[in-house]
Amino acid sequence: MTGLRIGVVGGSIAGCAMAIAGTRAGAEVTVHERSSGELQDRGFGIVIPPPLHQELVAGGYLGADMPTAPVATRIWLTRAPGRHSARELARQSSPVTPCNWGLLWRALRSNIGESAYHRGLPVGSVGRTHSGHALIRTADGEQEYDIVVGADGHRSVTRELIAPEVRPAPAGYLVWRGTIPLSALRDHPKVLELLKTAWITLGFAGGHGVFYLIPGADPGSRLLAYAIYAPPPVSASVSASVSASKVPVSAAYVRNIADEHFPAEWADVVARGEHTSQALHPVADFVVPRAAEPPFLLAGDAASVTRPHTASGAVKALQDALCLERTLRESPSAAAALRRYAHERTAEGARLVGLGRRLGRALVENTPDWPAMGPADVDAWSRATLNGARSYLYGGVHQR
Ligand SMILES: Cc1cc2nc3c(=O)[nH]c(=O)nc-3n(C[C@H](O)[C@H](O)[C@H](O)COP(=O)(O)OP(=O)(O)OC[C@H]3O[C@@H](n4cnc5c(N)ncnc54)[C@H](O)[C@@H]3O)c2cc1C
Repeated sequence: MTGLRIGVVGGSIAGCAMAIAGTRAGAEVTVHERSSGELQDRGFGIVIPPPLHQELVAGGYLGADMPTAPVATRIWLTRAPGRHSARELARQSSPVTPCNWGLLWRALRSNIGESAYHRGLPVGSVGRTHSGHALIRTADGEQEYDIVVGADGHRSVTRELIAPEVRPAPAGYLVWRGTIPLSALRDHPKVLELLKTAWITLGFAGGHGVFYLIPGADPGSRLLAYAIYAPPPVSASVSASVSASKVPVSAAYVRNIADEHFPAEWADVVARGEHTSQALHPVADFVVPRAAEPPFLLAGDAASVTRPHTASGAVKALQDALCLERTLRESPSAAAALRRYAHERTAEGARLVGLGRRLGRALVENTPDWPAMGPADVDAWSRATLNGARSYLYGGVHQR
């Protein structure tokens, strides 16, 4: 693929990973990122499967020195009925590699090699030349490429060209994400001890919370990352228009959820923790009918968004990049590579959207009677929910 010109729209997780993939396959890559600043301030927790992390390090996508906070176990908790203490429901084998979103982005960004990374200029649209090449249009003019990769997130302008009919389907509930310094756990040493060896799912009627440690910005430091899924406050409408500007209102609501449903020490952490970051997202999903249509290709959230219960958006973006590198190396032409990419990655996007919906139904929309469950029930519930699907978060369950 020497001499192949690839333009990438978006320079976040998917964009940087695609730039590395293209460069490693011998192409000349140019990234066009709208934001002018560093992207690490989006930093939250991201979980990836350990084998993928190893593959990315071995393949030169990530440095071995990128901080991670691996754990091998998942603990299911709920609030004991009529009490304020936690009750452990089950432990499952679930090896995961939690990362800090910002550190992951920075690690990818530092490995894009010879690729040019232009920032601070949005791509207005993409199009085709008469000769079948791809065009990227910015305020500076038009650039022609052999392949344009749309890595421009869930509102992708690239997707508008090849799949304009696709619209996100709202799940009808929200997720509050946050990161909290470990000083918030000062009075709760048992909580901290659990988190050092496991990631936690805290089930309640009508939703759940997920808690895990991630690396902080300072070497060796840790943050507590969490995501709490629940229906919106009665006063808010659940639509894609719920915005980060409503976070202060929602912060009060999420504290109410914690007080009402969480064991006391977990409620205290959420309520009193001084957040280093916090955001509200309506949960939604979609998948494109084809992840590539030569000379265009979609990667990461531009191609599909799954409900976050699968913890697979960044994972899929990284796997998209590995797939592009492989198909470019193994195919006789760029168009053939993109057709193979479309075949493999469209199916994976659809699979993850289906899995996310099943998990959403079981973990938010139609929750079981958690306090009545024990280890065997959680295992049976997990198997029934997966319904034969693979998920690295349920590795121990699926393999048995
Ligand atoms: C609560 C929650 C928990 C999650 N947990 C996990 C997890 O544990 N594991 C996991 O794998 N994933 C997880 N995800 C998903 C993951 O965060 C996303 O899938 C991933 O970050 C998407 O990366 P991306 O590069 O595709 O898109 P984005 O990060 O949205 O990047 C798109 C980029 O394109 C740029 N852009 C947009 N339009 C233009 C334009 N016109 N011109 C130029 N640039 C443009 C934007 O500025 C941005 O930088 C989670 C998501 C949520 C909400």
